[in-house]
Amino acid sequence: MNANNSEVMAVHGEGRLVGSSSDEEPGAKTTIFSQNEIPTQSVSNRSTDFINRYFPLTAKISWNDWKWQLRNSINSLEDLQKIMKLTDKEVMAINNLKNRLPLRITPYFASLIYDSAPSHPLRRNVIPVVEELIQHTNEQSDPLHEASFSPVKGIVHRYPDRVLFTVTQFCSSYCRYCTRSHSVGKLDKLNKQNYEKAFEYISKHTEVRDVLISGGDPLTLNDETLDYILGRIRSIEHVEIIRIGTRVPVVLPQRITDNLISVLKKYHPLLISLHFSHPLEITEDCAKACNKLADGGFPLGSQTVLLKGINDSVPVMKELMHKLLKIRVRPYYLYQCDLIPGSGHFRTTVKKGLEIIKGLRGYAVPQFVIDAPGGGGKIPLLPDYVVEHTSEHILLRNYKGELCEYPEK
Ligand code: SF4
Repeated sequence: MNANNSEVMAVHGEGRLVGSSSDEEPGAKTTIFSQNEIPTQSVSNRSTDFINRYFPLTAKISWNDWKWQLRNSINSLEDLQKIMKLTDKEVMAINNLKNRLPLRITPYFASLIYDSAPSHPLRRNVIPVVEELIQHTNEQSDPLHEASFSPVKGIVHRYPDRVLFTVTQFCSSYCRYCTRSHSVGKLDKLNKQNYEKAFEYISKHTEVRDVLISGGDPLTLNDETLDYILGRIRSIEHVEIIRIGTRVPVVLPQRITDNLISVLKKYHPLLISLHFSHPLEITEDCAKACNKLADGGFPLGSQTVLLKGINDSVPVMKELMHKLLKIRVRPYYLYQCDLIPGSGHFRTTVKKGLEIIKGLRGYAVPQFVIDAPGGGGKIPLLPDYVVEHTSEHILLRNYKGELCEYPEK
């Protein structure tokens, strides 16, 4: 583990964590604090309790440093067992992950779950269970066939005017239902040459007006790399919109620094697509990070995957959508869970998704979509509000179940 004057090492020994350090972490090799990026010392009560228990020699300033969070992320059974009691199913799953999506949890996110029950929705997000090892028929490692839409490494060009640019395979915490679990978390890094080839592809394809930068999680890259990627894309004249897909405000809110905001602000119009799965993710730290992004002028939208036992009920989804609006994030997509290997225990029926959408009203209604297996793209689904549609009229059912008529002529 790296340590310098600015931070204090977690102590070795029973029940205490030894910080991990690895070159796989994109931020790991950069300076601890750049001159204009000194983290604050404010830490929530919950995080303080967690620090006192498991990182007792760590200064609050280090806890609030995103690079410290990356270096000290929990990525082994041994470290996870130091902070929480695991079930047999969890232990067996972690011991047998092999080439699957690795285990990785930031200390911040661990502080939200260390004393939780096995069924806790946030715990289920990041800690595998043995069901994850079971592959059902219809499940595929690349269900959206992204590989077949990839003309150069990192680029997925499925829709005519948009490309997806996966700039890193790394995330600060791995979600057990990740659609890209076939590539995410693998050490197949993109180098500068790959980036340049991707820029060249986008430049040559003048029909591309929208670039979605995703991964992995792009905001785990350091500010300099993001500045370079965004600068190169923004210099391509026909690119109108740049979007970033990230889960960082949820799992690593410390990453939303003033310096990051100043880098991103140079590349407006820049939209940020956030990934939430449960209202408990919206902590004070997460809200602060989202508000900072909103203050930077970035339109914020949310994507949520419908997950059995985590968010598959109207009250939970309603609470999540309402809380998102309060932190200035507009509910955007609700996804039917993709058919990735070992996702059977997370998948609900499509009917369940439609019931939930029916139970949400007003501004807080995301679009329910199925990303069609085989690469057919996103297809929106709506509950059946149309009872009859003739050349004379349309008969609709309203939110109370009453019939309403609208003339066609
Ligand atoms: S943050 Fe996104 S890319 Fe990373 S593991 Fe979660 S779903 Fe996958």
